[in-house]
Amino acid sequence: MRHLTKELNISWDQVHHLFVSTPHSPYLRRHRMSYLIGRVQLVSFVFAILIPLWAVIDFMTFPWPEWALLTGMRVASGAVFVLLAWPWDVEPTPRVAFSMLTVVLLGPPVFYLVSQPMLSGLELSTWGGIASQFYALLPFIVLAGLSVFPLTILEMLVFGVPFLAITAYGASLVEGFNLATYIGTLWLAMLILAVSLFAGVSQLRYMISLVSRSSLDPLTNTYTRRSGSEIIDMQYRVSIRQGAAFTIAFFDLDHFKSVNDTYGHDEGDKTLCMFTKKLQDDLRGSDVIVRWGGEEFLAVLPNTDLDGARLVINRIMDNWLGQRPDGTPLTASIGVAERTADQLDDWPDLVELADKRMYIAKNTGRARAIMSNDEVLLPSDKPLSASA
Ligand code: GH3
Ligand code: MG
Ligand code: MG
Repeated sequence: MRHLTKELNISWDQVHHLFVSTPHSPYLRRHRMSYLIGRVQLVSFVFAILIPLWAVIDFMTFPWPEWALLTGMRVASGAVFVLLAWPWDVEPTPRVAFSMLTVVLLGPPVFYLVSQPMLSGLELSTWGGIASQFYALLPFIVLAGLSVFPLTILEMLVFGVPFLAITAYGASLVEGFNLATYIGTLWLAMLILAVSLFAGVSQLRYMISLVSRSSLDPLTNTYTRRSGSEIIDMQYRVSIRQGAAFTIAFFDLDHFKSVNDTYGHDEGDKTLCMFTKKLQDDLRGSDVIVRWGGEEFLAVLPNTDLDGARLVINRIMDNWLGQRPDGTPLTASIGVAERTADQLDDWPDLVELADKRMYIAKNTGRARAIMSNDEVLLPSDKPLSASA
């Protein structure tokens, strides 16, 4: 098994990311969707040129009114592909990406299903026969085309199996039906789908490994400042659109330098990892941790108002943030800011305000959180009079 995961270039606990997209992080999802949209636009651009141009061949090879019908369809689908290839400024959500992918994949089979019965009854010249053979290959083009998209195994099957069915149906319509040829056609279609599945999932695997390598801090496995900023920006805009609460908690570990000075940098690193692991355990799956600086972290809590944030921060402080190497509790100074309560339009202002409150926590005794309206939260075992 270890050889397999090494070959896949992905850790064992990430293998299920290749089957379904539900465990993908918002960061990976956004990058994958934006890549998918880019691919759909590239394919649409090529189709938008080639499909109407092919009308010349229809005109030369098919009789009236067949060539005119095909040309009408070509012009209509060319217009759809121009719309798809247009550089709209769209949010790269799964809904947008998969709608675009569905439309681009539907083009060839629609041609196939319309052209197949229309052309199969015709007396065709040699060239007409060659052109109609090309039409018969259209569903294969879709099955092979799936290979250029980084899709999960489930997505490949959801898109591929209906096209297999279309191929099976279309192949049953041909003149002089022959079972052996029919089964041969189905085998070929399945083989192409299997190869596409392998190619598409390989792309996904590379994407997952590159995105995690470039977006996660290797020591703590939390988001780096750069990728974290992108996630905050995206989630902040969603919270404005939905009128939802959005909280940021800024953590700066207390007297952390003395851990390094007394026990060495390696112990300091271990303490940092223990802290982020504990923080992760105390947060929801949809919350995000960002390493903002050395021992400064942001907990990004979408859909969390001040009451929710109070619960989370109390839970984090009461569970301890980890242990210093001498066994005493690791503490942090925490500043909390919330979009609606603090009435801020921009997320950098929200981070700045949380940072400012963290400094107030630092200067008024450490091991505490400062919320909106100067509210102070303390670990349950620490009296309010405690000072620096
Ligand atoms: P304060 O309570 O005032 O925050 O005291 P502090 O000692 O934590 O002071 P400060 O925040 O200025 O110190 C940050 C220290 O964190 C300095 C640096 O040695 C340490 N640090 C930053 N990044 C790392 C890291 O990746 N590994 C280790 N081991 N230490 C780090
Ligand atoms: Mg610091
Ligand atoms: Mg510190």
